[in-house]
Amino acid sequence: MNNNELLNQLLGIRNLHVVKSDFIGEEQLHLEVVSTVSVTSCPECGQVSDQTHDESEAQMIRDLCIAERRCYLVYRARRFKCEQCKKTFVERVEWKRPNVSYTERYERYIYQRVRRESVSQVAQDEGLSEEAVQAIFEHRAKKRRRHAGTRK
Ligand SMILES: [Zn+2]
Repeated sequence: MNNNELLNQLLGIRNLHVVKSDFIGEEQLHLEVVSTVSVTSCPECGQVSDQTHDESEAQMIRDLCIAERRCYLVYRARRFKCEQCKKTFVERVEWKRPNVSYTERYERYIYQRVRRESVSQVAQDEGLSEEAVQAIFEHRAKKRRRHAGTRK
């Protein structure tokens, strides 16, 4: 097993593949990842597209720690072009919400911690601002309320 395969298994996110890894100082791990899904459907018309238009700039997506190191996924969102409506759109992925720089599972982790600890404690431990921790918490709390509502 080469290093990237090993890291893939540790990462364990479906449809993501580690292509490069770097330690940044003592406490950070950067994993460069690519999406392995080759087709996606247009959010406007639903047409399936396999035409990658371009890639956006690399984003740093915070993920759960690996071996007590803060882990960031270096990810370039792909833009596809729809044949049908000729529009381009950014690929939606299941492991992160659009326009946020955390994985879904990292948001879940922060939410669970804030339920037991103070916002300032979590922010300090995770190296995030209190505003960022609060925003993650509120987003997930809202989502849970919505789910609870649909179960009635
Ligand atoms: Zn379309």
